[in-house]
Amino acid sequence: MTNKRLLAVLAHPDDESFGPGGTFARYVAEGVDVHIAIATDGVAGSVADGYEDALHELVAVRTKELDAATEILGVTLHKFCYRDSGYINDPANNHPDAFINTDQHEAIGKVVQLIREIQPQVVITHDETGGYFHPDHIHCWKITTPAFFAAGDPEQYPEIGPAPFQPERLYYTAFPNSMVKFYTILLRLRGKDPTAQGKNKDIDFTKLGIPPNKIHARIDWRDYWDIKMAASAQHASQGGGTSQSRNMPTWLQKRLFAKDTFIRAYPPVPDGFKETELFPK
Ligand SMILES: [Zn+2]
Repeated sequence: MTNKRLLAVLAHPDDESFGPGGTFARYVAEGVDVHIAIATDGVAGSVADGYEDALHELVAVRTKELDAATEILGVTLHKFCYRDSGYINDPANNHPDAFINTDQHEAIGKVVQLIREIQPQVVITHDETGGYFHPDHIHCWKITTPAFFAAGDPEQYPEIGPAPFQPERLYYTAFPNSMVKFYTILLRLRGKDPTAQGKNKDIDFTKLGIPPNKIHARIDWRDYWDIKMAASAQHASQGGGTSQSRNMPTWLQKRLFAKDTFIRAYPPVPDGFKETELFPK
């Protein structure tokens, strides 16, 4: 029985694969008990070309994709089943059941419960920008950060068992803006406008990313490349992670992309601090 445990709280069915899927695959291979909680049902997600028929049964499709992807990653899946909110200004954000509009105390309690049950040393969630300012990503940060501390506090959520448990480290997924700058150059070379990306042209790539000295942890997963790609491919209705880099040789893609980057939120570390491992020794 392994004694290293990790819990990631992420917004959508696909964030576990398109996001730090390589990191999860690596830790599973190293014997870590990896748990992933997905907050929403993915109903407001966009649909890849050719999958328009999937729209009316999007929740069922995305649940199936998520189940398949997490099986490939080898992680234990937990679903909060909140209704997906949309991107900024999406009408889906006005739905009373949308994740961002639901009772915050209750949502924090769900994370507290998982932490007390799983007893992870390491907790991961989105950062306060949500990567690209998606409200559901930001909401995960909003609930998981207080839950990380509440889980160890016997005064908070006393009704939630089994017993208070304080994880040791909290990480936020984030990527350096150096990477984004590289990517915006690629977009411009292809004649595309980096300030109007995404299906609705409402994602401004020039505003994305974190200064590199605020990125603390870099997890290399190039040995688990195939697992990450296979898991991402399960999310066919979301484009399957078939990236813009198809024309690039795999060795170069691995060198450029087979690394996940994280901000260490707790315990805090100074700017410029660097580590290549999430678990304390
Ligand atoms: Zn997402």
